[in-house]
Amino acid sequence: MSTSPPSAIVATGGSPRDEGLAWLHTLGHELVPAVPSLFTFNLPEDPIRELMGVVAPDVRLRIAGTKLESTGPLLITHWGLSGPAVLRLSAFGARDLHALGYHYTVQVDWLGEMNEHEARDRMHEESAAHPKRQLINSDAFALPARLWSFLLHRAGVPGEKPIGELGRKSLDRLLDVLTNDHYTASGKTTFKEEFVTAGGIALHQVDPLTLESRVAPGLHFAGEVLDIDGITGGFNFQAAWSTGWLAGKAATLI
Ligand SMILES: Cc1cc2nc3c(=O)[nH]c(=O)nc-3n(C[C@H](O)[C@H](O)[C@H](O)COP(=O)(O)OP(=O)(O)OC[C@H]3O[C@@H](n4cnc5c(N)ncnc54)[C@H](O)[C@@H]3O)c2cc1C
Repeated sequence: MSTSPPSAIVATGGSPRDEGLAWLHTLGHELVPAVPSLFTFNLPEDPIRELMGVVAPDVRLRIAGTKLESTGPLLITHWGLSGPAVLRLSAFGARDLHALGYHYTVQVDWLGEMNEHEARDRMHEESAAHPKRQLINSDAFALPARLWSFLLHRAGVPGEKPIGELGRKSLDRLLDVLTNDHYTASGKTTFKEEFVTAGGIALHQVDPLTLESRVAPGLHFAGEVLDIDGITGGFNFQAAWSTGWLAGKAATLI
């Protein structure tokens, strides 16, 4: 007959409130405080929300006053900003954005990899090649037409103006909006979006090969109850499955 202690696996998922894992704390486990990850940025009352459904293919996002930055596609929604670039930023910045109370300034570079100098050259080329073309009809940066129209308006540049007649000050304003736009985020949204909890059982208290607790022998953990959270792309499922397999194997349940 086996003399090994009975095993159990805790796989109860992430708990948005620390109290949900209090019973594990009473067993001696350190809990990394829970904060949400993978959410969209709310821009209450901002007119950009009228562009819901528009995707900017390659933007660079920064959170003002922090080192948080991400690149990739951005989706404009009824609430504000979403898409891979935003979700990734919300994951890497989950704790910082929580600390800011979800009130912060999002800097948007709509041109992604192209810097302001290159964008200026691009506009000069466009002006030389099509001086009479109206700005609204320009495809200089391959942005979606509705977004381009919105950004021209935001820069105070009339769309019907011929590109060749765009003055220096107007061009400066347009380039500033294209490469250094600012939006005020207030709150977050998780509706229809992935939602993961960052935080949980501190990893240093868990053997990574068996997922067994170092403070409560025989107790294993799997999935989001652990202090593991990933970006979008199936990484959270993968973490749950991989830790579940390891914990199950170690606990000899499979
Ligand atoms: C809307 C949404 C979309 C998502 N999309 C993706 C995605 O596309 N890709 C990705 O990688 N991740 C995604 N995730 C995250 C992913 O679902 C989780 O990371 C993953 O399911 C975690 O698995 P888990 O088994 O640890 O916990 P869970 O899937 O949460 O399962 C825990 C289970 O334990 C049960 N439970 C809790 N407490 C108790 C208790 N005391 N007694 C008995 N049972 C209990 C719960 O009812 C639940 O069934 C998404 C999450 C949400 C909410």
